[in-house]
Amino acid sequence: MAEATIRRLIRDVPDFPKPGILFKDITPLLADPAALAEVTDALAAPFRGQGVERVLGIESRGFIFGTPVARALGCGFAPIRKPGKLPWRTVTESYALEYGEDRIELHEDAVAPGQRVVVIDDLLATGGTLTAACKLVERLGGVVAGCGVVIELGFLDGRARLGGRPVTSLVRY
Ligand code: AMP
Repeated sequence: MAEATIRRLIRDVPDFPKPGILFKDITPLLADPAALAEVTDALAAPFRGQGVERVLGIESRGFIFGTPVARALGCGFAPIRKPGKLPWRTVTESYALEYGEDRIELHEDAVAPGQRVVVIDDLLATGGTLTAACKLVERLGGVVAGCGVVIELGFLDGRARLGGRPVTSLVRY
């Protein structure tokens, strides 16, 4: 079962990247081929048969999981990136961090009006990143069929910030 595999292979790193943060390190999971296959299959499973036409992955760990999910669903992939990284015309969303703000960008032609889209990241914390990603999809006229994350930090209640957009997580802490 993917949940047991994830719990076994996620490494908790205290005080990274700054004091007070317990970083969920996915690299032991990525290093295990059977676990990687199991987790990417489980991430794709809820979206099978849902008419999904595009998968978006959020820089950078969302790329790792988003691409195999796109393969599993038989649809294309597009990257959501930090500012200034994408070469073509973009749409941009800002979102609040604990201190200051951040931005993410998506190519204008990454999502077509009416297209059903799944957004993938490794982890849902406060929900700021995933909510901004959903807004990018919606600004291009796309429909968020769902969001998928490997890990949800439930105590931060990021789900509430997503305003009812469906989210699937494989493990909740
Ligand atoms: P948030 O916007 O607060 O939901 O943060 C989600 C983003 O920050 C994801 O792209 C995660 O990769 C990263 N992140 C936040 N908290 C952690 C954590 N404790 N461990 C690993 N990554 C994290």
